[in-house]
Amino acid sequence: MPRQRIVIIGASVAGATAAVTLRDEGFDGDIRLIGAEPQLPYNRPPLSKGYLRQQESFEAQLVKPAGYYTEQSIELTLGARATAIDARQKLVELEGGERVGYDQLLVATGGRNRTLSVPGASLGGVFQLRTVEDCDRIRAVIRRGRRAVVMGFGFIGSEVSASLRQLGVEVAAVEGSRVPLARVLGEEVGQVLASIHREQGVELLAEDSVEAFEGSGRVERVRTRKGRVLECDMVVAGIGIVPNTELLAAAGAQVDNGVLVDARCRTSLPDVFAAGDVTNHLHPIFGRLRVEHWNNGYQQGRAAARSLLGGAQPYDYVHSFWSDQYEHSIEYVGFAAGWDRLVFRGRPESRKFLGFYLKEGIVHAAVGLNRGGDPEDPKVDGELKAAVHLIRNRLAVDPAKLGDEAVDLLVLARGR
Ligand SMILES: Cc1cc2nc3c(=O)[nH]c(=O)nc-3n(C[C@H](O)[C@H](O)[C@H](O)COP(=O)(O)OP(=O)(O)OC[C@H]3O[C@@H](n4cnc5c(N)ncnc54)[C@H](O)[C@@H]3O)c2cc1C
Repeated sequence: MPRQRIVIIGASVAGATAAVTLRDEGFDGDIRLIGAEPQLPYNRPPLSKGYLRQQESFEAQLVKPAGYYTEQSIELTLGARATAIDARQKLVELEGGERVGYDQLLVATGGRNRTLSVPGASLGGVFQLRTVEDCDRIRAVIRRGRRAVVMGFGFIGSEVSASLRQLGVEVAAVEGSRVPLARVLGEEVGQVLASIHREQGVELLAEDSVEAFEGSGRVERVRTRKGRVLECDMVVAGIGIVPNTELLAAAGAQVDNGVLVDARCRTSLPDVFAAGDVTNHLHPIFGRLRVEHWNNGYQQGRAAARSLLGGAQPYDYVHSFWSDQYEHSIEYVGFAAGWDRLVFRGRPESRKFLGFYLKEGIVHAAVGLNRGGDPEDPKVDGELKAAVHLIRNRLAVDPAKLGDEAVDLLVLARGR
């Protein structure tokens, strides 16, 4: 029998975790992990937090230390972009022309920053943030007392704003919505976060947008639609990502806001799987969705590896993400594109609360501000774990009990 050969395109959290899981599960064939970035696979969350603030090293961010891949006979091809997939011949073509054969292929190409199409976007000092190289460029210009404009106040924009303020940079943030983060977290929670940032000195310009970056050679000011002129030394734009689906689309895979995969991470092409930010996956609880969470990269990377080995278990992880801003930590479990009721346990103004997003009496998601643990960590017997249970089991709950601190959530989650 020839040795089985699994090729993985995309060497970040989803791709690298899949490679690790293949070995952990006893796969003894060939694994080749191909990544466009030159660095060893690393985690991105610290890029807007500890690494940006120069409090964490790059090495602390690695998915696995360098020696691991040699020890585990995982062939790493870094700084190499895959340019084509031939699903009939089972070949991947790399920049430079090398052709790599596979028995099974995993695509974990993630996402890239949306193009910044504002006039002046190519001026020096205008940054976007996805890779460690992007982050190093931003780090190089950070100085106490400098002025930054943050464009977009989603999770990346709000985390970068917090880090910049912590480093003594003046921050003005321009955000299109009335209340930042309200689309994901709801107005009440968004207001609390906005008030935290304002208290920390961020000038938050809501319901406005950037019209132009101006300066000679380097950005010197930002002009907004409402007519504000913001003098600045740098800009960081956090305007979202697009999934890197082009390779798979060109190979004939079905794509619709991400590559479509079933609950076993299979694309519509034979022996081609996908995981992470690039997927629009069929979830047994939430239906079809694409998320941009580190936990999904990790968990779906693991699930895809098991599917590659023939496992039939559907990927049913109850999604979760976190965000750290100043001393505050946000934890979110579940998925709620819309809700008809948001029930709080603890007052939002106290900045220590849980919020439950309900639709027709069923909890679809929950958020904790300064109140959560890791819901998938068995050591943490916390409230968010109970929330995961409620979400997974689609239990109808009495909102009054949800909001009542005296009622034990775990008891409620068990349906008693
Ligand atoms: C600054 C920042 C902070 C974040 N903070 C959080 C957080 O606090 N919490 C949270 O839950 N999530 C956070 N995220 C999101 C999280 O990092 C992503 O969800 C996660 O990185 C997705 O992993 P992935 O492996 O699917 O894709 P990616 O991390 O996007 O990696 C895809 C890899 O594939 C490579 N690639 C693409 N095309 C090709 C090709 N043709 N050939 C070879 N290689 C290719 C890319 O270069 C890249 O290295 C953050 C993201 C950023 C940028």
